[in-house]
Amino acid sequence: MIRTRFAPSPTGDLHVGGARSALFCWAFARHEAGRFLLRIEDTDQKRSSAAAGLGFLEALDWLGIDWDEGPEHGTSGGGNTGPYFQSQRLEIYQAQMQRLIDAGVAYRAFETPEELAQARAGARQRKEAYRYDRAALSLDADTVQQYLDEGRPHVIRFKVPDEPVVVVDAVLGEVRIEAGELEDFVIRKADGFPTYHFAVVVDDQSMGVTHVLRGQEHLANTPKHVLLQQALGYDTPVYAHVSLIFNPDGSKMSKRDKDKALRAAVRERGLDAPPAGCGIDTDAWSSWLSDKTTQLGHEQAEALAGVLDIELPEINVSDFRRAGYLPEVLLNYLALLGWSPGDDREQFDKAFLVEHFSLDRIVKSPAKFDRAKLKAFNLDAIQAMDADAFTTRLRAFAQQFEGAFLEAMTPEQFETFAGANHERCKTLTDPFDQGRFFVMADDEITWPDVKGLRKALCKGDPTGYERLEAIRPMLEGLSDWSAASLESAIGDWAKSNCEGNLGRIAQPLRVAVSGGTVSPPIFDTLEILGQAAVLRRIERCLAHQLNTATS
Ligand code: GLU
Repeated sequence: MIRTRFAPSPTGDLHVGGARSALFCWAFARHEAGRFLLRIEDTDQKRSSAAAGLGFLEALDWLGIDWDEGPEHGTSGGGNTGPYFQSQRLEIYQAQMQRLIDAGVAYRAFETPEELAQARAGARQRKEAYRYDRAALSLDADTVQQYLDEGRPHVIRFKVPDEPVVVVDAVLGEVRIEAGELEDFVIRKADGFPTYHFAVVVDDQSMGVTHVLRGQEHLANTPKHVLLQQALGYDTPVYAHVSLIFNPDGSKMSKRDKDKALRAAVRERGLDAPPAGCGIDTDAWSSWLSDKTTQLGHEQAEALAGVLDIELPEINVSDFRRAGYLPEVLLNYLALLGWSPGDDREQFDKAFLVEHFSLDRIVKSPAKFDRAKLKAFNLDAIQAMDADAFTTRLRAFAQQFEGAFLEAMTPEQFETFAGANHERCKTLTDPFDQGRFFVMADDEITWPDVKGLRKALCKGDPTGYERLEAIRPMLEGLSDWSAASLESAIGDWAKSNCEGNLGRIAQPLRVAVSGGTVSPPIFDTLEILGQAAVLRRIERCLAHQLNTATS
């Protein structure tokens, strides 16, 4: 039976590249009626965090990628090849490690990190490629024993055979590594944990994994894995390495892109100290600015983006979720990053993917992540929903991220709000981002002195202000405050007061109640706000009066 696995290291949120690997493994297993496993590679004690592990599970859940075996999380759960956290499999690795030691193909090496760094620097100076010199191999047994008795920290290295190694990849074909290119790599770290290379090989074998689908950044690791499989007498699974994912500007899409965007904005504005309220101290600020490999924490990055008023690029699945993309759309788009159904079709659902997924349609060429296209897919999917389905999705989104809207609106008002936004929203955040004024207190609305507002309020004869003044008594006297009644009353009013040009009163009203020039259709907007709020906002807008002299 086909068995695939997704094996994230829980070092952060699930990013687009990881999600794409998971999706391909899942789709292939489902297509082949096989099993899809989830294994958490948490052997890097420094970098793993339990919370991140859970974030992964939540992101997969949201995308609708379910696993047959792995950490239990509301799916069919526990298979029979667990545990599925590598940190709980140390004994298994130890036994396999011992086999290699007994066979003389793994050995202890006692060099300190400083000694190794020095050797590396020396090689660099001589302009040579550094490779471990196997000095530990010439230690005699007594010395090794003495070091062990002293409790000297040491690693275990694998003795790489002196022959070429060939990786057969289902996408890329044969990749050949010549003898002597690989050094004796470490398979157990000084802290007693296996390295990624060793654990992954042991786990893939003991979990019966038949196919390894993963990103091309791992291709350089695969020869090591094949050598270990041969030394341990394991089968080699089928490998398929999927293209890297690039930004439209040609740079590799990376979790560091957010920091890149922030650094660029900081430089552009010439900020030389961390803005208050971002939780970044001066030292951290200067090292972050000067070292491109450093990243701000999630909260710090968000806070700084808020201060700089920029949008951070979405990289993690949770970013796309928060930005109002639909999971089925993201899943569709991820599938296209390195796979194609073979015809022109680009939009499809999960069932289609499962039915058609095959390794021979994985493409070699680099995948480009085009947010505009993703957004267009999202718009299409939103528009294809009927009104009820859209309201339900929008309400669920509000429950998760925009609770204030549910508190401020009755269920009927929320339905009107959803309906008023359905036509034009590209993401589920659009209605909320553009509709903050709905949940602001009446007294919080402000009217910035910008062209669009001046045009609506100060221009013309009569001006917008004067029209607002004139329509106010009519609105005050209106007994039925539904959108339909507002439409007919304001329409009639416009006929007699604006030569029938509704826009001349609609735009001043929009500006008065929202503080901006964009809102859902005006009658829906007024209905949702309610009569008292509309009158109060008009009154405040009139009292505020933009400076007409600057118009
Ligand atoms: N833990 C590795 C990662 O997150 C998995 C690589 C693999 O699939 O073998 O990149």
